[in-house]
Amino acid sequence: MSYEEVVDAVIKMGLEKYRADQLLDWIYKKRVFAFEGMTNLSREHRALFREKFVLRLPKLLEKKVSKIDKTTKFLYELEDGNTIESVLLFHEGYATACISTQVGCPLRCSFCATGQSGFVRNLTVGEIVGQVLAIENDSKRNIRNVVYMGMGEPFLNYDNVVKSLRILVHPKMKNVGVRRITVSTVGIPEKIVKFADEGLEVRLAISLHAASNEKRDVLVPLNRKYSIEEILQAAKVYQEKTNRRVTIEYILIKEFNDFDEDARRLARALKDLKAFVNLIPVNPTNGEFEKPSQWKMNRFKEILLENGIEAELRQEKGADIEAACGQLRLKNLRAKS
Ligand code: SAH
Repeated sequence: MSYEEVVDAVIKMGLEKYRADQLLDWIYKKRVFAFEGMTNLSREHRALFREKFVLRLPKLLEKKVSKIDKTTKFLYELEDGNTIESVLLFHEGYATACISTQVGCPLRCSFCATGQSGFVRNLTVGEIVGQVLAIENDSKRNIRNVVYMGMGEPFLNYDNVVKSLRILVHPKMKNVGVRRITVSTVGIPEKIVKFADEGLEVRLAISLHAASNEKRDVLVPLNRKYSIEEILQAAKVYQEKTNRRVTIEYILIKEFNDFDEDARRLARALKDLKAFVNLIPVNPTNGEFEKPSQWKMNRFKEILLENGIEAELRQEKGADIEAACGQLRLKNLRAKS
């Protein structure tokens, strides 16, 4: 529920508005997920809340911790038995939650494990926000950063994603800073433009992965509908309206999109956009793609820098625990079948 919905419900129960704030404080700040534990509320109020509200977190099925970098992958079960993945990543001094927006994904990007298992359904607002709360509960860590980079395409579940963002940034709820949230999209131009008008101003990341439509068609089937040019045009609108630098994600695949000419072409495509390029070594999920050598990846980055495009080679995390998008769930599904 949004802040306004909780306040409305509490007032309808005949209680003062500040009871809503107390309730939300228990859930979002003190991580108490049972009404019984909310000790500054009277027995009667707790009983009333128990009767009118449902308070439930995704159920932890499996947890894997990387020996290399402590990256932790959670497999959660939803009420209807479906499973989703969430990841906790550690950077210097802070923890980031990577959350899912759909069960499976309909986009079927060729390198991505999530698409291989097909699409089941959109997540509810509660299931999206619930992942952040569940990760905190299961790791006893404070989460100050959230990336919508788990399973699914956020902009195909647009309304629930936007509502979940309003809950995460609300000062009386999770209170995550807008600059500490990133929404990653495959690139759906009309949704990017709409998102620019939500007044949220979170960071936007676009999964470009190629600088020519010919190559992007191979990786991202949706590219046949929305070309690179249309996506970058929409990204420019987002960048100008929100005054935020847009992140461009680019998976590096050996001898496919890692040539010098790809880097130069990418730099040309991003000339008019205030962008930051995140280069990600592909995590092989089906044996088809391999990551380039370290030398080659550095060279790609250098070409971007020489052409005036800011870029970073992202550190691979959790390589020993199948932490790439959808891998753990896929393994779990295969084990069952
Ligand atoms: N649908 C959204 C968000 C989910 S994917 C999107 O497309 O952005 C989150 C990021 O993980 C995307 O950039 C995606 O391309 C990347 N990703 C998926 N599978 C990967 C793999 N095998 N190796 C490296 N990155 C991968």
